[in-house]
Amino acid sequence: MAESIHVPLASLLPSTSAKENPAAVSLGGLGGDRTFYIETFGCQMNEHDSEKVVGVLLRRGYRQVTSPDDARLVFYNTCSIREKAAHKVFSRLGEFNPKNNFGRESGKVIGVLGCVAQQEGEEIFERAPWVSLVCGSASYRKLPLLLARLEAGENRVAGLETDTDETFETELTQRDHPFRAYLTIIEGCDKACSYCIVPYTRGPERNRASDSILREVRELADVGYTEIQLLGQTVNSYRDPSNRHLTFSELLLAVAEVRGIRRVRFMTSHPRDLGGDIVDAIDASPALCDHIHLPVQSGSTRVLRAMQRTYTRDEYLEKIRLIRGARKQISITTDIIVGFPGETEQDFEETLSLLDAAQFDGGFSFQYSPRPHTPAAIMADAVPEATKSHRLQVLLERQRAIQVQRNQSLVGQVFEALVEGASRREMQWTGRTSSNRVLNFTSSRPDLLGEYVRVRVTGAGPNSLTGEESIE
Ligand code: SAM
Ligand code: SF4
Repeated sequence: MAESIHVPLASLLPSTSAKENPAAVSLGGLGGDRTFYIETFGCQMNEHDSEKVVGVLLRRGYRQVTSPDDARLVFYNTCSIREKAAHKVFSRLGEFNPKNNFGRESGKVIGVLGCVAQQEGEEIFERAPWVSLVCGSASYRKLPLLLARLEAGENRVAGLETDTDETFETELTQRDHPFRAYLTIIEGCDKACSYCIVPYTRGPERNRASDSILREVRELADVGYTEIQLLGQTVNSYRDPSNRHLTFSELLLAVAEVRGIRRVRFMTSHPRDLGGDIVDAIDASPALCDHIHLPVQSGSTRVLRAMQRTYTRDEYLEKIRLIRGARKQISITTDIIVGFPGETEQDFEETLSLLDAAQFDGGFSFQYSPRPHTPAAIMADAVPEATKSHRLQVLLERQRAIQVQRNQSLVGQVFEALVEGASRREMQWTGRTSSNRVLNFTSSRPDLLGEYVRVRVTGAGPNSLTGEESIE
């Protein structure tokens, strides 16, 4: 995974001021054409935000199309967690520059949503004057108003306030996954990890009331969803703002009890807020999935302190012991950053030894990417790109070997898989276990999509299992 150097937006897009090139278009001039296209970058929370934005647009009479070429309104819901993700958006915007004869047809209404919108703000209008809307995630509640202004003829509208205690709830959400419904229970983040841009781009933590969450879960169950995934940057820091004051583990149990719900997942958990009550809840309820995503970021207490993660290596390993002590075999996945400023070989060795000690079932690893508005961006002792890249390879190799071993230990066991896809080969299906492992299996039965099937594991690789339907 190669890292790129931070290049400001200014150098990626031609420097034309809004005055010189009033290329932005308002919806007012678009007659009856209310087609829209949306592309989403980044995390599951962004994916789900887009599902809600689509709901808002459909409610206003817009129609979704699958190509930007067929749309009058083109939205990019953006990610800026690492520099590379932010770059992708700028290259998409460049395609609409009216000065490029080879670019896409101009005259479209272009909107930038999400983290890059918040990070760059109205500067986007300066550098890409053909953009008409810039809106950060903390302002999504204002989207109907912003759309109404575009429809009324304005060609520059922005929603960039983060000072809010409101969550984004919609009358309609267009869900893309046929079997799993995502549901954000906390927006924003109140932690202050020194490398992370999320608190800046998504604003302070806002919790959704438990009644409202449970009402939506019941509605989802009524229309046939059996799996719910609760989302939040630190989902387990949930504090119910209503007078029911449910704790996170109480909320998990309440969601799991909704009639028709067979699986409940949650993501992402912060180690500091992971208590025994959450593990007890998973043990107590068959519907609570046996998987916890628990990002550690580094195995060195020194680096964790510089990252402001609020726990030490030993405290993190204590959480691992807590989870491994459960009656259920709970799988644990993680996120790791290599090459944080000042990370020495010794620090990196401690991350490798933490992999051995924790025995993660999977995870994501990243090279550190300096982000604007974060304390780490101005820290001394940057790690050279080549060292970051080498460390990432070493880390991936070590973790791969652990996953092969852990997955192989499951051969012979029977798991329930929710069938999510059919392979092109006949009688081959792909499903997911409660522990969130991909399980490819054979069955002689037709029409298994969306079904729960018991599967005996017959083989294992680093990232998936293979098996056959169990007829016992
Ligand atoms: N809220 C979650 C948490 O506390 O771990 C995840 C937030 S972020 C969307 C997902 C992952 O991106 C993080 O866990 C971290 O490993 C990685 N990440 C965040 N900022 C980064 C940066 N500046 N450079 C590299 N990776 C980063
Ligand atoms: Fe970023 Fe840390 Fe908040 Fe996660 S907990 S979103 S890494 S600041």
